[in-house]
Order: sequence, then structure tokens, then C-alpha cells
Amino acid sequence: VIDIIAFDADDTLWHNETLYRGTEKRFQQLLAAYQAAEETEQALFQTEMRNLRLYGYGIKSFGLSMIETAIQVSKGRIAAYQIQEIIDLAKEMLETRVELLDHVADVIPSLAQRCRLMLVTKGDLRDQEAKLAGSGLAHYFDHVEIVPDKNVEVYRSLLARNNVAPQQFLMVGNSLRSDVLPVVELGGHAVHIPYHITWAHEAVQVPHGNQGDYAELAHIGLLPAYVEGLCRPSK
Ligand SMILES: [Mg+2]
Repeated sequence: VIDIIAFDADDTLWHNETLYRGTEKRFQQLLAAYQAAEETEQALFQTEMRNLRLYGYGIKSFGLSMIETAIQVSKGRIAAYQIQEIIDLAKEMLETRVELLDHVADVIPSLAQRCRLMLVTKGDLRDQEAKLAGSGLAHYFDHVEIVPDKNVEVYRSLLARNNVAPQQFLMVGNSLRSDVLPVVELGGHAVHIPYHITWAHEAVQVPHGNQGDYAELAHIGLLPAYVEGLCRPSK
């Protein structure tokens, strides 16, 4: 019996990675005078990985990493007006309207009638809160957890805080690394719903022998049938 169904947000409930990829394309064009797009892509990824420990996830961090990459790639020749263009790219991302994935607008309200729902997302607090508000879904979730990262320790304390045993916890998300494997390791349940693109940082090889410990669904529209009868009738 499942006590709580928890959802990842980015690329599980609403589109996110497409926004980053689109901005990255424009960033590559902005630096086209200095180097090829693929090199810029690699340089930006390396800067992001270096900065992750200091900045965490989210658009503001991404913006700072773009600026740093531009300075590095141009060997300090990037003009102030081009730095402004990069800042504007990040601001535009922050103001982009939330676009739900297919089926989400039906699935979440319908599941909320029979299950306790939780949102577990990592990233910038203000940005994630704004997206949740913009999604129109906020009131369907009994609990919202915006965490700096999603690993075994974070899930362990999150479950303890909410008084849920791992065996009664089901996590649904697009990232094996963040949404599935740490939950399975704790003894919880997970459903993997792949998004059509994955950020390189989230890409993992599934450890051999782990394949059977979680379910994989093609899209979130299949989730209600999958959890049918699993929820504790708490509502
Ligand atoms: Mg995600």
C-alpha cells in the first residue's frame, strides 16, 4: 500500500530541458565569432559542473555559468552589451510560462482525489515556487519539498520529516539518477517516465541487477492505471 505518491517537477510535470537547450543554442550563436557551437556546449557544461557545488541548480546558476563561459571562451574580449544579452537570455527563461506535459492536467487532479500527493523538486527555491504557482497544480499537492539535491540522504530525511516509510513511498520522475535510483536504494518504489531529452548531468548507466526494481512508463497518462488500488484510502 502506498501512502504518498511523489512527483518530480521539471520534465515530469512541465517542460524544462527544452527551455535550457533552446537558450543554449542562442548562447552558442552569441559566441559563434569565438568558437564552434559544440566547443561552447562543452565549455558551458564544464563551467556548470565546476559551479554546481557553489551555486546549486537552476536558471540563475545557469546564467552565471553562461557569463563565465563567455568570458573564458572570448579570452576576456566579450563586450559588456553581449554580457547584457546573456543576462537577458536568463531573465527570459525565468519569465517563460510553465507548459505542462501531455496528460498532466488530467492525471494530477484525478490522482489527488484518491492519493496523498507530494512534489519533490530540486533547484532554485524562488524559481521552483514560481513555476509551481504558474502551473495551476499547487493545490493538488499535500506536501511540497524543494530540495538542493536529490540523493539517498535527502530522500531519507524527507521521508522521516513527513513520517512515511520508504515501502509506502512511490516516486515518479524522468531522471533515473535523481528520482528513481536513490528511492529504490532506500527500499521505496519508483516509476521512471523518460523525457525525450536528458541533461548530460542526469544521464546514468543503471547498475546491473537494478533493472527490475522500478517500473518504466512511456508517459504520465499511464500512471493512474498503474497505481490503481495501490493508494491507502486516506482521502
Ligand atoms: Mg526532472
